[in-house]
Order: sequence, then structure tokens, then C-alpha cells
Amino acid sequence: MADIYTPFIKNERQQMLFNKAEALADKAQTRVSETEKAADFSLETLKDLKQANYVSLPLPKSYGGEELSLYELLLLQERLAVGDGSTSLSIGWHMGIVMEQSERETRTWSQEAYDLIASEIGKNNKVINTLATEPATGSPTRGGIPQTTAKKQGEAYVLNGRKSFATMSSVLDYYLITAFVEEEETIGTFLLSKGTAGVSIEQTWDTLGMRGTGSNDVILKDVSVPLNHLVEVNRQKKSSPKGWLLHIPACYLGIAIAARNEAVTFAKNYQPNSLDTPIAEVPHIKQKIGEMELKLMHARYFMYTIAEKWDQHPDSRGELAPELAAVKTVATNAANEVVDLAMRIAGGRGLSKKFRFEQLYRDVRAGLHNPPMDDAVISMLASKAINEDI
Ligand SMILES: Cc1cc2nc3c(=O)[nH]c(=O)nc-3n(C[C@H](O)[C@H](O)[C@H](O)COP(=O)(O)OP(=O)(O)OC[C@H]3O[C@@H](n4cnc5c(N)ncnc54)[C@H](O)[C@@H]3O)c2cc1C
Repeated sequence: MADIYTPFIKNERQQMLFNKAEALADKAQTRVSETEKAADFSLETLKDLKQANYVSLPLPKSYGGEELSLYELLLLQERLAVGDGSTSLSIGWHMGIVMEQSERETRTWSQEAYDLIASEIGKNNKVINTLATEPATGSPTRGGIPQTTAKKQGEAYVLNGRKSFATMSSVLDYYLITAFVEEEETIGTFLLSKGTAGVSIEQTWDTLGMRGTGSNDVILKDVSVPLNHLVEVNRQKKSSPKGWLLHIPACYLGIAIAARNEAVTFAKNYQPNSLDTPIAEVPHIKQKIGEMELKLMHARYFMYTIAEKWDQHPDSRGELAPELAAVKTVATNAANEVVDLAMRIAGGRGLSKKFRFEQLYRDVRAGLHNPPMDDAVISMLASKAINEDI
């Protein structure tokens, strides 16, 4: 019988890619209690992702990749999150950055910078992430100017500052650091490699959820980078829609699917001695299971439909900003509601660390604080409607 994934797997290639994500998800899941304690990304999981060539999948075939479509990326990231949300969100940043830079229409770096990183990923399975958030800016999507500065000194830029929420910082091979470039009075993005002098990590990540992302602070003290490592200027002003950010809703829907699977299994197997059937037959439990299905179906069909639109109509991508933002809000809120329903089905046992529910409940909450934020999405949709010819 078809399972919850079947409707979205449409061909042999997708099945093959999905199987790869499934195997990686199963392995990552076995390490969750360890990463929960350490509040850091698992080195073993990173090794698995690299060995399976997962991290090079978005690259063009000429660089050793599989030219993932957005739809395929979401299929994989969602499945990875069923095993471990932290693994999915963390590697999702890398996958998205590589996808964005691999497509000519969306690339914002120079060819030289792209060649360097693409070969490093294709040949050596390196991983990269953007460190944009800072304590003073909050979410960079709000338009705050980084307090991290870049000053030109001869043939180099010298960077000073602090980044917060730096996912996977302890295991990354490359960092993309946003900074205010003083001479040009603009925001630039700098490419730094692991081990660059003056870069250190402060173990600040001690959070309620998504502990395994290891999103610690990164400190930059007199970090010197060659001039050509300024790979992008004024990204904030380039407001073209970013399809790859849908890895965020895919991740939180994966967490919700995990909670749904646990809850349905629990309901089919738990039979207190006050009943002569498992609780799955009790009307209020059935109602909750049905509601979980409805919310997941709604959010997933919305997300995958928009991803297909992105893939199939590249010329219309410029118009998809409201839909992409809406998918994120619909999916992360639905995911929170689904995990809440799953917790209600499990009852008090759901609070115990013997079950997965409590961890999924904590992890799913983080989705509300990944971009774009709900208030910004609602405001964007309202402006669109108000400015429309009616
Ligand atoms: C698990 C996880 C992983 C992450 N990984 C990364 C990463 O790898 N790289 C990275 O750069 N970032 C990362 N982030 C950071 C994330 O993208 C946000 O920047 C961060 O969560 C701060 O956003 P915020 O809304 O919580 O904070 P703030 O922006 O400080 O907002 C705090 C409160 O103030 C309100 N507010 C603030 N400014 C405004 C405004 N201008 N208008 C209206 N309301 C406002 C908000 O609505 C909110 O209620 C990660 C976050 C999480 C949770």
C-alpha cells in the first residue's frame, strides 16, 4: 500500500535519490540523543553525507553533481528531516547555496569564485554555509546593517565582528561572511576557508530545539582575506525570489511527518484496559489523526506545486515571491500544529524522553524563527492584494 511519500515520488530518478536520503536519515536518527546532549552537528553524520556524495547533488554534472531540481531537493530534505530535523536544516543551507550558485540565472558570484567552490565540493565533498545573522541585526531579512566590518588594507580585507546562529560552524569547510565594507559603504559577502587565522567559535548554542545544528557564535578578529574573496556585493538589494529557501518548509514538514508516523503507530498499538480496541478506534483520536493528514496534505501539495512551478517555468520565477513566502508560513505553522496533535494523541507519554515526540515538539518550534518570518509574509501578501487592480 502507498505510504505518505509515494504521491510525490514521480519517477525512477526521484526514487533513487529518495532512497539515498532515506538511508542517510535512518543513520542520522541513531545519533540524535548524542547531538541533543552535545548541542552540535554530528561529525559521523557529516561523514555519511559526504561519503554518499549527498553534498554534491545540486552541482552540474560537469562538476560531479546531479543537477537537482528544486522539487527533488525538497523531496530529499523532507525525508532527511523525518530522521533528524537538525541534519536536514543544516545541510539544507549548504544544498541551497550550491543550488543557487549552480544555476546561471540565479548565480550572484563571479565565475572564478563559483569554479573554486564547485570543484571543492565536486572533488572533495566540502561544505559551506552563510553566516549573516548577528546579535545586533536579528534576522538579516529585516534589513539590518551588519556590525561585522571589512576594511581594505593593501591587497586584503580585514574582517572584525561576531556572527550568531552559525549553523554547523564547527564542521564547515567554508564560511560566507556578510560584512559592512567601509570603503564602498555597502554590504559584502566574503568567502573564508576553515582554519583562517583569527576565526574562532564560541559554544553559545544551548537551545530548546534544533540542538544538533550546532548554531554557535563565530568570532572574527583581524581576519585577513584576499580581495577576490569578496564574492558578492549588496546581496540584500538583489531581491529576486529564492526558491532554494523552500528547504526550510521541507525540513519542518519532515519533522511533522515523523511525529505523525509516531502518533499513528502509537495509536494503533496502545490499548489501555478501559478499552477493548487500540485508541486508534476512538473517535477523538481518529479526528486528530484525520486533522494531521489534512494539514500535511494541504501544506505538502502547496509546497511541491510551487516547487514544480519554479522548475518548469524559469521565466516566471520573478513573480513567485509571494507564493514562496506563503509556502514557508503555511508549512511551518502546519508542522507545529501536526506535532501538537501528535503530542495530544500520545498523552502524558509524549512528554517522556523515551519517545520521540518531545524532541520533535521542540525542534518544530524553530521553524517559526527561520526566514521569512510570518509577520513579513502576511504583510507582503496584504500589500500585494491592496496594490492589485480589482
Ligand atoms: C535553528 C536555526 C538555524 C539558523 N541558522 C542560521 C544560519 O546558518 N545562518 C544565519 O545567518 N542565520 C541562521 N539562523 C538565524 C535566523 O535566520 C534568524 O536570523 C534568527 O532566528 C533571528 O531572527 P528572530 O526573528 O528570532 O530575531 P529578531 O530579528 O531579533 O526578532 C526578534 C523579535 O523582534 C521582532 N522584530 C525584529 N525586527 C523587526 C522589524 N524590523 N520589524 C518588525 N518586527 C521586528 C520579530 O518579529 C521578533 O518578534 C538560524 C536560526 C535558527 C532558529
